[in-house]
Amino acid sequence: AAATVWKEFDKSKVYMADLESGLHFLLRIELASHQTLEGKELETFKDFVTVIAKLFPGQQPVVKLLETLLEWLVSLPLDRIPYDAILDLVNNKMRISGMYLTNKLEWVGCQGSQPALRRYPCSLWTLFHTLTVQAAERPDALANTGLEENAQAVLQTMRRYIGSFFGCQECGRHFEEMAKESMDQVTTHNEAVLWLWRKHNTVNNRLAGALSEDPQFPKTQWPTPDLCPACHEEVEGLHAWNEKEVLAFLKRHYGASNISPKYTA
Ligand code: FAD
Repeated sequence: AAATVWKEFDKSKVYMADLESGLHFLLRIELASHQTLEGKELETFKDFVTVIAKLFPGQQPVVKLLETLLEWLVSLPLDRIPYDAILDLVNNKMRISGMYLTNKLEWVGCQGSQPALRRYPCSLWTLFHTLTVQAAERPDALANTGLEENAQAVLQTMRRYIGSFFGCQECGRHFEEMAKESMDQVTTHNEAVLWLWRKHNTVNNRLAGALSEDPQFPKTQWPTPDLCPACHEEVEGLHAWNEKEVLAFLKRHYGASNISPKYTA
């Protein structure tokens, strides 16, 4: 295999190349192991596409592709959909103008020092955080979709996607345990952003030092003080998070204006 070229990047930014590569992987590789979608899986996939079509803060051709996929899924009178039909649409076989999703894996903020490290799982976390922040910034975006007026909409939809489709099944089981414990206590969009941040740190803590850790990207409690000094406090000699600052930081970091288009087509 050709050596991958290291790409310069700024860890205080989110890269659209990671989000698009993640969607490419999800729609063309991860989903391909399901020959037909039906029943609960089909409902889960439809809700997932609803969330990304309405909330993905992407380039116009990608958003148009997601919106077209959603319209097609919603209008279809079938209760079973062959994966190949989804793939034809994602590949734009009908040649509808102005819609396109990259078919390359171009990892930037999610590049790993070895092929088995980081990459897609990193991009799925990044997508997930980006979507919770978009839901908080644009609470009306899900109007008339059946998912509106629900502060848990993104969390519950991603939970079901991860449970049914995420290729790392062990990850899915771990995530489900955390979700069962406390996801239903989330009542506002801001709490959803913070819930996901907290649980991601729980995962980081569990995985620190594990074989899946990229030595170039050690698992930490995030954001580190260099990224957000105000997020960290000391209370009676012990470390504490300032959650108000963390929330503001997450909204900035995963907000649309912090997503860099560098390395995208
Ligand atoms: P990641 O943890 O993937 O994080 C990506 C980026 O998000 C980081 O580079 C950082 O910029 C940012 N970030 C880090 N922490 C936070 C935070 N708390 N809040 C917001 N942003 C943050 N692997 C396993 O081996 N076992 C598991 O059980 C497991 N469960 C997983 C469950 C889910 C839902 C997902 C999506 C992945 C899971 N993984 C699991 C994979 C693992 O969490 C990492 O994604 C993978 O090891 C790659 O790590 P990474 O260094 O790229 O950082």
